[in-house]
Amino acid sequence: MEEKERYDVIIVGAGMAGLSAALTLRLHGLKVLWLGTPLLSEKIRRAEKIENYPGLPSVSGEAFAAALRDQAERAGLSVTPQTATGVYAMGGYLSVSTEKESFEGRAVILATGVESVKSAAGEEAFLGRGVSYCATCDGALYRGKTIAVVCTSKEKEGEAAFLASLAAKVYFVPLYKDPSFAAPNVEYVGGMPLKIEGKRRAEKLVFKDRELPVDGIFFLKSARPPAALVGGLKTEGGHVAVGRDMSTNLKGLFAAGDCTGRPYQYAKAAGEGNVAAHAAVEYLRSLG
Ligand SMILES: Cc1cc2nc3c(=O)[nH]c(=O)nc-3n(C[C@H](O)[C@H](O)[C@H](O)COP(=O)(O)OP(=O)(O)OC[C@H]3O[C@@H](n4cnc5c(N)ncnc54)[C@H](O)[C@@H]3O)c2cc1C
Repeated sequence: MEEKERYDVIIVGAGMAGLSAALTLRLHGLKVLWLGTPLLSEKIRRAEKIENYPGLPSVSGEAFAAALRDQAERAGLSVTPQTATGVYAMGGYLSVSTEKESFEGRAVILATGVESVKSAAGEEAFLGRGVSYCATCDGALYRGKTIAVVCTSKEKEGEAAFLASLAAKVYFVPLYKDPSFAAPNVEYVGGMPLKIEGKRRAEKLVFKDRELPVDGIFFLKSARPPAALVGGLKTEGGHVAVGRDMSTNLKGLFAAGDCTGRPYQYAKAAGEGNVAAHAAVEYLRSLG
């Protein structure tokens, strides 16, 4: 059997932390795969005015994102537009799966940011039992069924449309402004989902004033909880637990940026991305 290409480092997430790590790893001439969105994180673009980033006295999020994209392009960095759905320690290397394929890396840097929308109670407990974060991976399981799709960003509407093409009925719960997604089998539901109820599987999505009986619930988020992405990962208060060198409890796995905890700031994300990249280089060196 043909051997699979193995990257030195796989970076998961194309925000400030991921970019900072990618720029540093490039200087070391390593073979890097960078997963995320080529437009870079929506969070960079959304900031109205940034006043506390050194060297840029007062800059809009749009202008900041454009400058970062330009820097990445000039450095010859390109983002592979795929979302990681799982990271697995394989003993000696890490495997990163996406909706389309799986990749192997000797080291991985998680730079996935945080989801600003609060989780519904029971989201983690029912994961894999009626709750999913991945339309492509699990959509087919709900062909002809009734589902709720909780969507936190306009960028995820394409995934919602894919689910609507499979399910008989979709309760669509947009948690962002000006949703534009529509299909004949889709009913919009306003408000914040509070909890998930069910016996063995998720059966109901509960709001303050309403309950939706469903066969499944999809949470289409910009960042899924780190523990749901990486089995066996140590977390603290929902953030990835890291040492000063941004290493996690799993060999070869590092994390940087908002996903490691507060404060949620560009400068911290850039600094941690840089530290994680250096630590990954040291780790690879130690492997020989
Ligand atoms: C409106 C707003 C204004 C802000 N203003 C400021 C400010 O003025 N000053 C300041 O310092 N900070 C500010 N911040 C905070 C700042 O945006 C964050 O601290 C910073 O973006 C964190 O960078 P990050 O790379 O850790 O995460 P993010 O920017 O969140 O980037 C993570 C990226 O990874 C992607 N991702 C997640 N999971 C996966 C996966 N499984 N596979 C592939 N990709 C994935 C996400 O979609 C995202 O694109 C602001 C934030 C907001 C929302």
